[in-house]
Amino acid sequence: MKNIRYFDHAATTGVKEEVLKEMLPYFNIEYGNPSSIYGIGRSVKRAIEGAREKVAKAINAKPNEIYFTGCGSESDNLAIKGIAYALKEKGNHIITSRIEHHAVLNSCKSLERDGFKVTYLNVDKDGLINLQELKETITDKTILITIMTANNEIGTIEPIEEIGKIAKKNNVYFHTDSVQAIGNIKIDVQKMNIDSLSMSAHKFYGPKGVGALYVKEGVPFIKLQDGGHQEKNKRAGTENTAGIIGLGKAIELAYKNIDEYNDKLQKLRDYYISEVENKIPGTILNGHRTKRLPGNANISFKGVNGGDLLLKLDEKGICASTGSACNTGSTEPSHVLVSIGLKPEYLQGSLRTTFGYENTKEDIDYLLSSLKEIIQ
Ligand code: PLP
Repeated sequence: MKNIRYFDHAATTGVKEEVLKEMLPYFNIEYGNPSSIYGIGRSVKRAIEGAREKVAKAINAKPNEIYFTGCGSESDNLAIKGIAYALKEKGNHIITSRIEHHAVLNSCKSLERDGFKVTYLNVDKDGLINLQELKETITDKTILITIMTANNEIGTIEPIEEIGKIAKKNNVYFHTDSVQAIGNIKIDVQKMNIDSLSMSAHKFYGPKGVGALYVKEGVPFIKLQDGGHQEKNKRAGTENTAGIIGLGKAIELAYKNIDEYNDKLQKLRDYYISEVENKIPGTILNGHRTKRLPGNANISFKGVNGGDLLLKLDEKGICASTGSACNTGSTEPSHVLVSIGLKPEYLQGSLRTTFGYENTKEDIDYLLSSLKEIIQ
């Protein structure tokens, strides 16, 4: 991957060397099944429990509140449908926002087909939900609020602690999709009154195909997949042991130097945004200017086709995206950009650049000069 400038860390990240090193023995040396009772099974089980402790520590949860899954999408499905079905006798109303990832939106759609009612909250021009509207939307049938911690396209960070307070006061469970937030901002599930939270290892320099779900002790939820009794009978299937070990190491590393890391990303992001705004005419910053992920910049270029822009950037060895990687190939405008009310002339011209620890100012300068040349 020589001569590649990678600015798409929200799509995925490369596994860190230290993470890979910890994972490798679990493919062919420590290959026992963690459910087996003999020594090599038990030692793998112990390693998984070690990873569980690391995840719990990172978000201030208890290890028995962490469930390993196959990805962030699975964590969202398990949390939202699992809690909704467990509580269907109590109520059938769920509240979410219009700018959630499709793992959440489509889980809600699936529940609607099964008789649940879902309110999709509007967001303002920066992508923030309105807390007053949230309060007014809660009824005695509301069982769950699911609002993302940070948006994957525009990077806006929602007022999670306030949402947690509102949920608690109204006796409603609160799930948050933290797939973009974990490893990038600090989360304390106790302080923030979060009942359930999704994460995915490949967004914080861990491997793909492994995620985790936190569900607070006592929060009712049912399993969606039948099979064995793994993960406290909530997620059947032999564990992805190497993946889980990798997730554990990756989250530990992510939070070890989080302040320093964020400081660096924020400086790169703000430098990039100000240079684009000052030097390229007809741009709009999408998402909140300050309440945004440290490494996210999403800018629309008036009258530019984002798809064409990506191809031209690719020719220069630059990896970026127009929005969510999951929607690549779709000709529909992004539901997030539509929801923040972006004008049509800006809708197709968005460029999401998400920076990571390996990016340098020199990389950003190369991106800026390439952009200026292409757009001119
Ligand atoms: N939620 C958000 C906010 C995401 O950004 C993503 C992936 O981009 C997901 C959920 C899905 O995660 P995964 O790719 O691990 O299924």
